[in-house]
Amino acid sequence: MKGVYSYSMDNSLRILKEHDIRPTQQRLEVHLILLKQAKHLTAEEIYEKVKVKMPAISPATVYTILDLFKQKHVVNEIRIQFDKSCFEARIDPHHHFLCKHCRNIFDINIKPCPALETRTIEGNLIEELQGYFYGTCRKCLEKNDDKPV
Ligand SMILES: [Zn+2]
Ligand SMILES: [Zn+2]
Repeated sequence: MKGVYSYSMDNSLRILKEHDIRPTQQRLEVHLILLKQAKHLTAEEIYEKVKVKMPAISPATVYTILDLFKQKHVVNEIRIQFDKSCFEARIDPHHHFLCKHCRNIFDINIKPCPALETRTIEGNLIEELQGYFYGTCRKCLEKNDDKPV
């Protein structure tokens, strides 16, 4: 994705600073990985990727960084799989689709619920929106033309 979420050290630096996070090497690296990947990564996947560049980093450090990023709203946590969270650097509200066959998770760019524009619903303040869809993705449908799920 171009623009706000484009992949560069400068962009990561700017985003971390804007969210009041001191940009240490390790934090920058974790954020860069999230910016670089078009897909949604689990904490373990992020750790495996950071380790390539920073062999001394521990999984606990990566989890601590992700917790901080969550608190400061620098990452979006997606619980579409219930048993394991995924993370992404895209933080504007959007929905997700999980394919039951290939297990891919991807962004759905439909207009979010209209209540989001006013940020309130029946007098309650909305702070977060997560919309999850489950089914068969386009690619898997093409492979199995004869038996749509
Ligand atoms: Zn699929
Ligand atoms: Zn997403």
